Amino acid sequence: MKILVTLILFVVSACSSVNKPQPFTDSLAYKNNSSVISVPVRIHLLKSNISRDITAVASSEELEEMFNVVNLIWKQAGIKYEIESITYLNAYKDEQYVEAMSKTSNLTRQQKIGAMNKVCNITKQSDRVLNLCVIGKTVNGLGGIYFGGRHPKVIWPTIAKNGREVLNPATLAHEFGHYLGLKHNSEEAIYLMRGRGNNMRRNGQYEYILFTEREITSSRKVAMKLFE
Ligand SMILES: [Zn+2]
Repeated sequence: MKILVTLILFVVSACSSVNKPQPFTDSLAYKNNSSVISVPVRIHLLKSNISRDITAVASSEELEEMFNVVNLIWKQAGIKYEIESITYLNAYKDEQYVEAMSKTSNLTRQQKIGAMNKVCNITKQSDRVLNLCVIGKTVNGLGGIYFGGRHPKVIWPTIAKNGREVLNPATLAHEFGHYLGLKHNSEEAIYLMRGRGNNMRRNGQYEYILFTEREITSSRKVAMKLFE
């Protein structure tokens, strides 16, 4: 009888492990280039006197915690994001941002994105640092957005679409991927760079999030060029 029970338990546990996603193993692309590349991140916490939706509410402990998760995800690529500094930044053209956030706004989607780009006005920054603007809420409830060009930056909200305060490290890790030149892929949902709308579903599954080998190779190449 005891043997039978043990056998059944074994079969049950074997079945359940089939459906569970497996944590990543070291990638070949990273193993071949074994040095870890550090990416310094300059964090700008936005604040505004006219709107609480713009002001970012996040402590340095919370931000460090988020970076720990981001680095857990990026470990397989051998890239580590390190907080260089955290400073406050006055929101630029915040009236326009409030207008863009309003439900009755007549602004086009493009104009709204423009207001989001402008609100974090960091034109005079070093190129050798990744700029991260932390904001209360994004326009349209986006989980995060990356702006390229001459002064690249990532904008990331502390308040989710449903109004709940939530910091989502998977979205942050995804936007950092764009910063390092990665585009969306059409892999399964557990892949970090899978197209929009999937990051919330990866909540709590951080150690299973994956990159393709090609993404690891190309993001390392970009990071090396910028930071080594
Ligand atoms: Zn994206």
